[in-house]
Amino acid sequence: MINTTYYQDLTKMNTFGMKVKARCFMEYDSVADLVDIEFEELARPVLHIGGGSNLLFTDDFKGTVLHSKINFIEILEEGSDVLVSVGSGVVFDDFCAWAAKEGLWGVENLSYIPGEVGASAVQNIGAYGVEVKDVIRTVYCYDTVEEEFVKFDVEECEYGYRDSVFKAPEVKGRYIVTHVVFALSRTPQPRLDYGHLRDAVMASSVSLSSDPRPATSSLTHPLAGGGMSLPSDTEEAMMSRLTPALIRKVIIKIRKEKLPEPSVMGSAGSFFKNPVITAEHFARIEAAAKAEYGPDYKVPHYDLPDGMVKVPAAWMIEQCGWKGRRSGGAAVYDKQPLVIVNYTGDAYPEEIVGLERRIIASVKAKFDIDLHPEVEHI
Ligand SMILES: Cc1cc2nc3c(=O)[nH]c(=O)nc-3n(C[C@H](O)[C@H](O)[C@H](O)COP(=O)(O)OP(=O)(O)OC[C@H]3O[C@@H](n4cnc5c(N)ncnc54)[C@H](O)[C@@H]3O)c2cc1C
Repeated sequence: MINTTYYQDLTKMNTFGMKVKARCFMEYDSVADLVDIEFEELARPVLHIGGGSNLLFTDDFKGTVLHSKINFIEILEEGSDVLVSVGSGVVFDDFCAWAAKEGLWGVENLSYIPGEVGASAVQNIGAYGVEVKDVIRTVYCYDTVEEEFVKFDVEECEYGYRDSVFKAPEVKGRYIVTHVVFALSRTPQPRLDYGHLRDAVMASSVSLSSDPRPATSSLTHPLAGGGMSLPSDTEEAMMSRLTPALIRKVIIKIRKEKLPEPSVMGSAGSFFKNPVITAEHFARIEAAAKAEYGPDYKVPHYDLPDGMVKVPAAWMIEQCGWKGRRSGGAAVYDKQPLVIVNYTGDAYPEEIVGLERRIIASVKAKFDIDLHPEVEHI
């Protein structure tokens, strides 16, 4: 069934909470519905949204907004991999919760990322050392130009960092994701090598242990506060207690501490991409930082295999003094400067964009680096 409304309020359909309307809004709940839509006839431009969690609407939308309510999760095959087909309209975290409940490994590290399954395959969402491409087998789409159903095996999706073939300018908007087949596993495969995740998960695993042996070693856990001691349990024993549900629980806790809850304070998550610069450029930045903070100061960075250096945009934004600063209804989130928030809940798009421009200008002035938004401006 297709539901069409005109001058639809989109405030609750974008996590930034921009108070905008769409001239035409069409919501469909089955793959077959797409065949009935006359794409040539739709008011232009046409935009397919998911949960609106990576979008910044800068104005009312003059064309047609489409939204999928294709909601199913179905196990197709149980072998060494468990193949699961999931409709594009399923909330991605509902899928993660389902997988955890089923004891299926693969998406637990991606827990609590806002948005829907269709967009996850477009965005190649990632968190805690995992990208969704690692578990995608096939992406099923409707080609709005040829008006036919097509499928992309994962190798054909050209996945990169938050990037895919579906975002290429020449095909942008052409393919509507209808459902995605994921390859999950019943064999434990925890991926804990990101930041302090292993420590946090191990601490939770210890607290779940049914073996109340007294502590004989004094491994201090950095996240436990107060210097908690872990019992003399082997890492192997702790690993054997891990479940996707436990890792999911830990990740949700960490994310809630770090990121604004969209229902409480609007945002689209990380607003800017982390820039990649030359090693010489990085050396200049580090020399300036050492001159300011002392010779032991280390600028956070990540050396890339090709000799280039990735520098966290959050560090630069903080260095420019933006962390926690307000500008009208907009603000830079005080716990994570990479996130711009709709602080008052009534921010105008112009206020978000104005803050974005001022941040870009000050990072350019201080570091000679051009920041680029991760968030899609509509
Ligand atoms: C608080 C917060 C934290 C976040 N943390 C993370 C994180 O850790 N990692 C991460 O990767 N991202 C993160 N994000 C960004 C966001 O959650 C992802 O980009 C997500 O995939 C967007 O999904 P969505 O359904 O909201 O898509 P939208 O924002 O609605 O759309 C995103 C893009 O996908 C396209 N699209 C949507 N549905 C379809 C479809 N069915 N077919 C074809 N194209 C479609 C849209 O046209 C648009 O180009 C975060 C966002 C917020 C608000």
